[in-house]
Amino acid sequence: MRNKLRSLYELQEMDLRIDGLDGEKAQLLREVATLEALLADSRRKIEERRQSAQILEEEKAGLEAGLSTENDNITRSETNLREIKTQKEYQAVSKEISGAKKLISELEEQILQKITALEEISGDIARKESDLAQLEANVAAQQAEVKQKVDELEARIAADAAARETTLSALPASVVKRYTRLREQRRGVAVVEAREGNCMGCNMHLPPQLYNTLFRQDDVITCPHCQRILVMRPQQEG
Ligand SMILES: [Zn+2]
Repeated sequence: MRNKLRSLYELQEMDLRIDGLDGEKAQLLREVATLEALLADSRRKIEERRQSAQILEEEKAGLEAGLSTENDNITRSETNLREIKTQKEYQAVSKEISGAKKLISELEEQILQKITALEEISGDIARKESDLAQLEANVAAQQAEVKQKVDELEARIAADAAARETTLSALPASVVKRYTRLREQRRGVAVVEAREGNCMGCNMHLPPQLYNTLFRQDDVITCPHCQRILVMRPQQEG
């Protein structure tokens, strides 16, 4: 392979390697993002349960206030009873007291239901918090692992990028432009081998005349079918 084509071939190799490393990095970051979303979801669910508990507490406090009022009513009615003169008044106050007692029993029942619901919710929150703590520990460990891998990948990408720049600077701007456009159009692969008369990019047969020129020239020759730049592999050269 002549110099220019060798450089292009090397550039393609480096770019594919960088693409691969970028892909690995993106995959790792996606995995971490998924875990972080899981954490956020878990925290949100706990927060929702806390809000439910808060509402229950407020409802319970309201019922307890009602209970306290009814107890006061009974006390007052019982005081009134002592000063009552008539049978009719006595019956009216007695009715008030029995009404209040009935209400108290209902309120107590409702308060008990709130207490039971609160106990369930507290248990649920405790379980969810324990799960969350476990998840947080796992995610932290994975984040640390991913960070290390990403750092390694970035170091390799940076090294390749530096080598790439060196190779790139040795190539004519027009060739680089063509290469770059082809990469965009051909899913990252702009330079392909020509082997046994075929283009390895599209597997189409190359015209013999064109194939023969590949042995001789240090010129950018493209496949007439897929337009990729053709090279002969180094070991194919005599
Ligand atoms: Zn082709």
